Amino acid sequence: MAALGPLGRIARFGSSICRNHRLIYNRSPQRRGIASCIDPSHGLTDEQKEFQKVAFDFATNEMAPHMAEWDQKEMFPVETMRKAAELGFGGIYVQPDVGGSGLSRLDTSVIFEALSTGCVSTTAYISIHNMCAWMIDTFGNAEQREKFCPILCSMEKFASYCLTEPGSGSDAASLLTTAQLKGDHYILNGSKAFISGGGDTDIYVVMCRTGGKGPKGISCLVVEKETPGLSFGKKEKKVGWNSQPTRAVIFEDCAVPVANRLGAEGQGFGIAMRGLNGGRINIASCSLGAAHACVQLARDHLLVRKQFGETLSNNQFLQFKLAEMATRLVASRLLVREAATALQENRSDAVSLCSMAKLFVTDECFDICNQALQMHGGYGYLKDYAVQQFVRDIRVHQILEGTNEVMRMIISRNLLTES
Ligand SMILES: Cc1cc2nc3c(=O)[nH]c(=O)nc-3n(C[C@H](O)[C@H](O)[C@H](O)COP(=O)(O)OP(=O)(O)OC[C@H]3O[C@@H](n4cnc5c(N)ncnc54)[C@H](O)[C@@H]3O)c2cc1C
Repeated sequence: MAALGPLGRIARFGSSICRNHRLIYNRSPQRRGIASCIDPSHGLTDEQKEFQKVAFDFATNEMAPHMAEWDQKEMFPVETMRKAAELGFGGIYVQPDVGGSGLSRLDTSVIFEALSTGCVSTTAYISIHNMCAWMIDTFGNAEQREKFCPILCSMEKFASYCLTEPGSGSDAASLLTTAQLKGDHYILNGSKAFISGGGDTDIYVVMCRTGGKGPKGISCLVVEKETPGLSFGKKEKKVGWNSQPTRAVIFEDCAVPVANRLGAEGQGFGIAMRGLNGGRINIASCSLGAAHACVQLARDHLLVRKQFGETLSNNQFLQFKLAEMATRLVASRLLVREAATALQENRSDAVSLCSMAKLFVTDECFDICNQALQMHGGYGYLKDYAVQQFVRDIRVHQILEGTNEVMRMIISRNLLTES
């Protein structure tokens, strides 16, 4: 399939970009541009600034006006995501020969940070979809790449990542879903828990056991939605991430062609972890977008809200809190971008840095958003104000794609075993 390529796409939209993106969904009477010290475009190349502008523009115009409705009505915004895919955001780091944008991990982080200012939950799903598309692009053979990647990059079809099971979360390598070889099919039995997009998506990248215990017995299969024996649990009721469904994915004698296996038998756990290295940067980037938006919302609120005869911005305690939030935001961004560069360059510290970024940034950004809510007082607790949704949406980033405790395990293991 011929690829338009990212620059082609950018050129079509570049002229309509506004430099200072504005969060238009909050009821603050005054809107201001981005303060220079937290400007996320610092240090980027001209080309990256263009991607970023496109993503901010999309977040502002196509996502932010709907983010509260998508949350409250639990709507999966398929058409909006397809519009994002027209900009190249369906396969950002997938290779161009199968419809991807062929961008770097750093470019990807910049894009997800910007998109998240418009809706964290939707962007986070797009990031999982991108991760699945990249796994097929990277570990699939020519037929698999040709069959699945173009329809994923265009978001004609949507993907889900299936690792977690009811009995195996943090200890993912203990998964029990079996895939028994019978002729030219694997017969899958078992169930996956907490699958983002589950039931509404079309393509399931499933980690399952084809061999003995432990990670070496795990393989990775692509399961298409129409496959007999595939079914779904009820839609989970969640604190946040409500613009994307979460369901159990169930396999009962589900026959999947051997041709749908990514890589060799036994390579599935490695493939799953390789996907998650990038996934952790992506999810941290989504937290950055939320924190960036919340620092701006808090700043704007302090500048207009009056108590004790003056605006809150004159209160030194709140000034210092705001300064801390901005500092933690910028430090978080630097770590994410360093990890993204390490992963792109396949450096030996990449796995640790991706884990550090996920741990540090999702914790810091949650605290930033929560502090922004506090600065809004009672208004911050109202659903009319976006700040509460950012808090609810990014809370789960400390839990999924490996909990932050698991991140500590990975980092300390590498510290203690590498010489
Ligand atoms: C909204 C949502 C979407 C999700 N989407 C997906 C998805 O698309 N695909 C998918 O595969 N999974 C998904 N997950 C699952 C997610 O990855 C798991 O919830 C996560 O890995 C934790 O597993 P668990 O819930 O079983 O918790 P457990 O593993 O039971 O952990 C419970 C607590 O104990 C801690 N803990 C466990 N072991 C240790 C240890 N050795 N040392 C210290 N602390 C420990 C954990 O950190 C955690 O705090 C999603 C989850 C949620 C909530």
